[in-house]
Amino acid sequence: MSELVKKRLFHGFISMHILHHAKEQPIYGSWMVSELAHHGYQLSYGTLYPILHGLEKEGLLISSSSNVEGKLRKYYSLTPLGDEALVELRNYLKELSDEVMERYHE
Ligand SMILES: [Zn+2]
Repeated sequence: MSELVKKRLFHGFISMHILHHAKEQPIYGSWMVSELAHHGYQLSYGTLYPILHGLEKEGLLISSSSNVEGKLRKYYSLTPLGDEALVELRNYLKELSDEVMERYHE
């Protein structure tokens, strides 16, 4: 799979992953990069930050800065709109996963 194709397809997966974790607890950039690395995604900040900013701009996430050991860290939390989006996305994911995985096992 080419990097361009990967980037485009993974954009949605990563967005959903971010919303999912932001629902559990406020997340920040480097935490998200290592979390995604556990799932096999090698993600640069140059890819992650535009996605975070986009989700914030769309009103799905809200950010707040706090001082951690002398450095300002930006935390992102899920908004009520983001929560609605997550519920909706979950249904699409389930639908897609059921179909794709079922075919895969045939
Ligand atoms: Zn995760």
